[in-house]
Amino acid sequence: SNQYDSMVRPLHKWLSARGVIFALNTRVTNLGLREQAGETRVTRIEFARDGKPGEIAVGANDFVLVTLGSMTEASSLGAMDRAPALNGKADGGAWTLWEKLAAGRTDFGHPSIFSNHIDESKWVSFTTTLHEPEFLRIVRDLTGNAPGEGGLVTFPQSNWLASIVIPHQPHFIGQPEDVSVFWGYGLHVSAPGNFVDKPMSACTGREIMTEILGHLQVGAAAPGIIAASICIPCMMPFITSQFLRRGPGDRPQVVPKGSKNLAFIGQFCEQPDDVVFTVEYSIRSAQAATYALLGLEREPPAVYKGKFDPRVLYKAFIALHDMAET
Ligand SMILES: Cc1cc2nc3c(=O)[nH]c(=O)nc-3n(C[C@H](O)[C@H](O)[C@H](O)COP(=O)(O)OP(=O)(O)OC[C@H]3O[C@@H](n4cnc5c(N)ncnc54)[C@H](O)[C@@H]3O)c2cc1C
Repeated sequence: SNQYDSMVRPLHKWLSARGVIFALNTRVTNLGLREQAGETRVTRIEFARDGKPGEIAVGANDFVLVTLGSMTEASSLGAMDRAPALNGKADGGAWTLWEKLAAGRTDFGHPSIFSNHIDESKWVSFTTTLHEPEFLRIVRDLTGNAPGEGGLVTFPQSNWLASIVIPHQPHFIGQPEDVSVFWGYGLHVSAPGNFVDKPMSACTGREIMTEILGHLQVGAAAPGIIAASICIPCMMPFITSQFLRRGPGDRPQVVPKGSKNLAFIGQFCEQPDDVVFTVEYSIRSAQAATYALLGLEREPPAVYKGKFDPRVLYKAFIALHDMAET
């Protein structure tokens, strides 16, 4: 099932039952910090709720975990006949909060390393709702996979380096039987397409479908499929920002030196050997933060290091050289 119904809703229910309060429409704008004798303490959280400023006092036994940055920050949706707008870092609260916290000090990292290179960090994702069965039949015949069986289908010759993913259907609770959905993305969004003479970033949902159907070589079936599709593009300016070139200190420690009640979690804190973009990275940072701040004698699970496993290296070699495994 989809990640909202299978992960977000159960987690929300579990946490709510344990007293967690979710404050929606609330943007954290700053933290009040007290620096004393080499120790840092958060004393208050400043926020704007529905545009109105407010404050939460942080008590002596409270802890503050801050998710720094976000790969989906300032994302925007287009439509079947509208390309998504390209937003900037001021269009959300994540980078501005980190910039405010890190200003004038070195131990809270350097957010601009990740937020100032949108041309290198953006790509476009899209979701398509199909009101006809032909598209899934074509992909199944081409790949030999029923929906949900295969992984990514990448078009390696595509100028956009586009991929699609066909999940098991129905993907959503209540999804009608004659409706199916799939997801896709392109990594090189500034190059013109092979079938649409426009960079993917400037494309409407209709144009993205035209390009994908071109790669699938559906020919005369294309107009009928497009007429029965709703494709919504999503521009994500910072989606690969965590992979950008960085140096030591650009990402702060999960618990900065001297911090008594503040930790940084998410994709932009320092965790040696772990791989960003993954949910695991953020989860591990929250585990590390919690164990350290509460003084628990526990460690997050060790990072899996496949690069030192001869079996993994052998399989990688075979795959990279397009050889069949024996
Ligand atoms: C299209 C796509 C596909 C992906 N596929 C995979 C995959 O296959 N496998 C995988 O492991 N990972 C995948 N990921 C990555 C995964 O979703 C992220 O690693 C994960 O969600 C990061 O979690 P996070 O809690 O650190 O940050 P986020 O999920 O980015 O959460 C940060 C939250 O903080 C909020 N926020 C920001 N600023 C403020 C502020 N000032 N005040 C209040 N709130 C604020 C944001 O609104 C957001 O809700 C994918 C991501 C995308 C976008």
